[in-house]
Amino acid sequence: MDVDSQAISFSQPKARRSLQARVAWGDHVVTVGGDAPVRVQSMTNTDTVDVIGTAIQVKELAIAGSEMVRLTVNTPEAAQAVPHVREQLDRMGIQVPLIGDFHYNGHRLLTDYPDCAQALSKYRINPGNVGKGDKHDKQFGQMIEAAMRYNKPVRIGVNWGSLDQELLAQLMDTNAQRAQPFDAKQVMYEALITSAIDSAKLAQTMGMAPEQILLSCKVSGVQDLIAVYRELAQRCNYPLHLGLTEAGMGTRGTVASATALSILLQEGIGDTIRVSLTPQPGEARTQEVVIASEILQALGLRAFVPSVTACPGCGRTTSTTFQELAKEIDDFLRAQMPVWRSQYPGVENLKVAVMGCIVNGPGESKHADIGISLPGSGEAPAAPVFIDGEKAMTLRGDNIAREFHQIVETYIEKRFG
Ligand code: SF4
Repeated sequence: MDVDSQAISFSQPKARRSLQARVAWGDHVVTVGGDAPVRVQSMTNTDTVDVIGTAIQVKELAIAGSEMVRLTVNTPEAAQAVPHVREQLDRMGIQVPLIGDFHYNGHRLLTDYPDCAQALSKYRINPGNVGKGDKHDKQFGQMIEAAMRYNKPVRIGVNWGSLDQELLAQLMDTNAQRAQPFDAKQVMYEALITSAIDSAKLAQTMGMAPEQILLSCKVSGVQDLIAVYRELAQRCNYPLHLGLTEAGMGTRGTVASATALSILLQEGIGDTIRVSLTPQPGEARTQEVVIASEILQALGLRAFVPSVTACPGCGRTTSTTFQELAKEIDDFLRAQMPVWRSQYPGVENLKVAVMGCIVNGPGESKHADIGISLPGSGEAPAAPVFIDGEKAMTLRGDNIAREFHQIVETYIEKRFG
């Protein structure tokens, strides 16, 4: 062994210092950017006009961990419904800030429905569809004026599916005159970034404070997203909302989002995230919040729920006992979190291990706060339990799962209560 080798440094996400925006409802303030933790947000898929249905879904998303929730505001009826959704949430004790998602007619809705403009905590403006030609700056300006009048931050959210076509055509023309033109994809990247930053500058010339502006440039390809956000982060210090748009369904959408977001978050890029997952039939909308939270927790950026380490199992496990126990403990810890968050501060940092046999069971269990090593095939029917790195007891018989469950609860009460 080389005795002069350097110590291996701990890997951790880099820091990017952006401005800090405040997204507030009443005295509930969610800071975004600066030294704030990376925030999780999501979006409803109910018809906003359905006040009760929308309020219930917002509540579910908020309880799952979404710190801001976006709603579609696309018609006068939706704009009229927004203050009622807000009232309903207030009555239910849900303070999560609501974000209005506007396209095409946002300038009119924010002007004609002041109660909607007031009830929202942030406006999402897509510069690709605020209006064409002469109307573009005027209608964009009307939305910025509303934001300033009601003291609301805005996200200038560019999306490659609705990119400003006039800007793209203009950049294509300029590119064609270069001695060595960029390829079409590079021009598209440039158009996305230019659209976001120029719109932010325009908002500032209209009087908006830079701290009130967040940016996003969403695309649906992992490598495209990484390229665009790396450049965007270099060129500005506005807080950035990060997400792979139209990520898709199930495993594919989850993996693509986790891959793209993790690489950027590790580089310190991204102040708020959303996982844009298409729910599978019957799947809860809250799944996108769970995945976003898990990405942040896996990177060590935030802790939301106690983590359960479990081995994959192999030929040494003859039954599904340990899989069932791992799932049961994970489900239990997750279900308790809405109450435990206030009752047991810090419980989200708890680490539990549920392991299938003696090979890695005791070692992994010692690294956790509480761990159990279940008996593998051919082993004596005994399950040692480790607490804070020490063997505390051995469980035997048919009630191992129930007893371990009780041990975990007692530990939580003692340590975090
Ligand atoms: S801990 Fe045991 S059961 Fe689990 S994967 Fe390793 S060898 Fe297999």
